[in-house]
Amino acid sequence: MSGSAARLKAIDAVVGYQAPLERFSPTEAPGEIFGQNVFSKAVMQTRLPKPIFTSLLATIEHSKPLDPAVADVVASAMKDWAIERGATHYAHVFYPLTGLTAEKHDSFLEPDASGASMAEFAGKTLLQGEPDASSFPNGGLRDTFEARGYTGWDVTSPAYILENPHGNTLCIPTVFVSWTGEALDHKTPLLRSQQAMNVHAQRILRLFGHEDPAAVVSFAGAEQEYFLIDRSFYFARPDLLSSGRTLFGAHPPKGQEFDDHYFGAIPERVLGFMLDAERELFKLGIPAKTRHNEVAPGQFEIAPVFEKANLASDHQQLLMVTMRRVAQRHGMEVLFHEKPFAGVNGSGKHVNFSIGNAGQGNLLNPGDNPHDNAQFLVFCAAVIRAVHRHGGLLRASVASSSNDHRLGANEAPPAIMSIFLGDQLADVFDQIANGGATSSKERGTLVLGVDTIPDLPADAGDRNRTSPFAFTGNRFEFRAPGASQSIAGPMMVINTILAESLDVIAGKLEAAVAAGTEFNVAVQSVLAEIMAAHGSVVFNGDGYSPGWHTEAAERGLLNLPTCLEALPQFDTDEARTLFSTYGVLNERELASRYEVALEQYALSVSVEARSTLEVATTALLPAAIRYQSELVANATGLKALGYEHDPTSLDAVSNGVLELQKALAGLRAALAHDDEDATSFDHACYAGTTLIPKIRAVRAAVDSLEDVVADDLWPLATYQEMLVIL
Ligand code: ADP
Ligand code: MG
Repeated sequence: MSGSAARLKAIDAVVGYQAPLERFSPTEAPGEIFGQNVFSKAVMQTRLPKPIFTSLLATIEHSKPLDPAVADVVASAMKDWAIERGATHYAHVFYPLTGLTAEKHDSFLEPDASGASMAEFAGKTLLQGEPDASSFPNGGLRDTFEARGYTGWDVTSPAYILENPHGNTLCIPTVFVSWTGEALDHKTPLLRSQQAMNVHAQRILRLFGHEDPAAVVSFAGAEQEYFLIDRSFYFARPDLLSSGRTLFGAHPPKGQEFDDHYFGAIPERVLGFMLDAERELFKLGIPAKTRHNEVAPGQFEIAPVFEKANLASDHQQLLMVTMRRVAQRHGMEVLFHEKPFAGVNGSGKHVNFSIGNAGQGNLLNPGDNPHDNAQFLVFCAAVIRAVHRHGGLLRASVASSSNDHRLGANEAPPAIMSIFLGDQLADVFDQIANGGATSSKERGTLVLGVDTIPDLPADAGDRNRTSPFAFTGNRFEFRAPGASQSIAGPMMVINTILAESLDVIAGKLEAAVAAGTEFNVAVQSVLAEIMAAHGSVVFNGDGYSPGWHTEAAERGLLNLPTCLEALPQFDTDEARTLFSTYGVLNERELASRYEVALEQYALSVSVEARSTLEVATTALLPAAIRYQSELVANATGLKALGYEHDPTSLDAVSNGVLELQKALAGLRAALAHDDEDATSFDHACYAGTTLIPKIRAVRAAVDSLEDVVADDLWPLATYQEMLVIL
């Protein structure tokens, strides 16, 4: 075994690792623990008076407004339930624009004249909290003298108990807004977008003869990819600690070339972690379902069963926190970064989504009869139109400095937003665009008219992994979101752009029907119109091929490979009109989000730049120079003794050292630049166009040194060690 002292220690620690004692009993039925720590509907039903429960249920299930009068009763029942389960504190949980989860904890205990006593947990405490909001990003929404922010109970996402060996906490999911009521979080606009989508989806349903349609909601199922590495390596890599990704690391002799990891047997230690994590997720009512190895060594995936988008989003955040916590218990660290290892497959978070309601079910499910299919095609066409009109916003909704490493690089879906429909459905839409479906690829001849559209396959047999937005049989899969991000942002954009399309389509159909056009004829002509105008977003080919970039440009589709190109999509009149028309974000709120995204981008790049500078200056350059000195001493000694000397190694190291010193000087100078008058956009541009190339130059010099410096001097754990030793 080779490697520097620090690396050897890390490897020793991994080898000597002892798995924690098992935490479950083999007789435990999974059903017993599912939702055990959730103030669920079932719990509420047993603990709340019937009228209160009925009123709450109307809000949760049917999107009826919350009656504040119920809060006192619910708060008291919630508190009793939590205290019975060992809770000593409660926390309003919210989702600030950092994309992380924030919690404000308060004790149930309150000192009074006679000593401490259990505090009241009144309705108003449940309904509203007041965390000091000054340190959360607000993009100018809150003046510094007005630091207050408010959290407000989101009744549609159930409260739960967060366990800790030292005491439990009742967690209440909330929205987070400024004192003026403007959104400072991801949840508020998601809930608003959900409402907007519902209004217009219901209009369509009414046109199809469903007189009093149930509330239409969007559903989301996220597939979370992640890497696991041993904690000893994690702590031995300052770059991972500061940036979540390796800023250095030469390509290992064996990477993922053999594809021998994908769906392979899960290592026992990892399986132990997964079982433990899933058990914790189950207790929190998170339906973790699928697990498997991913493409890269050390990479895995977990996919919970889909839920209503708002709940799925909260659960997704909780899933990340839980996985990180449980991994640490097992001596490992979860990496959610989109590209922790250069040259190795990155991690995404595919968001599967559909819309539906209690009456009609999944509206993106091709139906069993032609009438249902017409309705399905209308909803599907609305998605097509939405993605075509607002592909730029979709791209912007997944823009982050870390996701730039996936999108735009030739691995994950390309940065061009197109839709994959599968051959049969694409063919049906093609025919609609050309004047009506008259035949289906598989089935025989059909008579003109939407009523005669054939049964569509419930399972789209064909899969296209290269498309950022793919129809997969009864849902769409948005593949561009990154592994570390909240799914609330993308879901909010999807709901909003869908609301607009449904609004436009409903308007056209309503007008046609009012003018006396027969409904089926109206549907046929609206579908044809939509496909003629927006069909160019459909692409069933290989999204990775260079030809697609050219073709996409000819079709007028945007290609926005980096954040700097994507984020300004939030800063257009079109975006402002869209988000304000549907009541999702007013102009100030939208501007603040754009501002925060730029700040976050500039901040993460500059952290990477500083970390690169520090680690390379204090650990890597010294290692290379030490080896260089050894080689110099060796060369001098050999010459003095009259031996022949081969300069290859010394040349390689000396050139590498010079390269690195030059690159470091460049990076240091770039970091010294400080422009106080610069806007957030200027800062972001500076980060993207000046800092990133300098970071890359340092890395290139370091990685080539790693290949020539003596291994026992190299201070950082190598890619091979981190990815393979688990
Ligand atoms: P894949 O084959 O794409 O890897 P997975 O089984 O890993 O599929 O994940 C599929 C995800 O899609 C799961 O989260 C699943 O619950 C979700 N899903 C399934 N049906 C729907 C639907 N109708 N709406 C939204 N999400 C769905
Ligand atoms: Mg999957």
